[in-house]
Amino acid sequence: RPDAEVCRAWVREAAARVAADRDRLTQLDSAIGDGDHGHNLDRGMRAALQAVEDLGETATAGEVLAAAGKALIAKTGGASGPLYGGALRAMGRSLDESGDLAAALRAGCDAVRKLGGAAVGDKTMVDALEPAVKAYEETCDLEVTADAATTGAESTMTLRARKGRASYLGERSVGHLDPGAASTALLIRALVTAAR
Ligand code: ADP
Ligand code: MG
Ligand code: MG
Repeated sequence: RPDAEVCRAWVREAAARVAADRDRLTQLDSAIGDGDHGHNLDRGMRAALQAVEDLGETATAGEVLAAAGKALIAKTGGASGPLYGGALRAMGRSLDESGDLAAALRAGCDAVRKLGGAAVGDKTMVDALEPAVKAYEETCDLEVTADAATTGAESTMTLRARKGRASYLGERSVGHLDPGAASTALLIRALVTAAR
């Protein structure tokens, strides 16, 4: 059962990984977007970490994720901010309701799909998130889940973008990794570390 401490550790670990990979994520976005994804998400995750630390130790898991999500929406900017922020808020609501990580991950994925309108194959973060959530529903194994996210992110290389800025490139988006799918793989990897 993922408790508030695991959620705090997740935000901490995610912020550290995004900071470390900021330039790589930005480079991916330079190829098929506007070259700000790593920068955006780093700013958002710093704000999320600060918001979570300001909450203190008595917050529930849902409150931790709600605070992180709200900060991401306010500070990330770009398409990814509302999507990741909405996902964390939906996960938080689900966690405080059921305490079940599989249900919470599914709620987060549903929120991204609903907010962004992207499906698997559109070359977005959904290509990493959906297979990861499915893997967790089937195995309850976070290592398997993180591997599914990585494989899903890698699958975007050969896809043509149908959502977001990269879709403006049409056929020229093929042959590049989607930056949001790459960051999703990183965020799911951070959850594995936090839950250990
Ligand atoms: P922006 O494109 O506004 O600069 P970012 O660079 O922060 O925003 O994020 C870009 C990423 O957001 C993309 O790589 C993609 O994964 C994701 N994205 C964009 N639009 C959508 C959408 N409609 N649904 C799901 N994900 C999306
Ligand atoms: Mg961008
Ligand atoms: Mg932008």
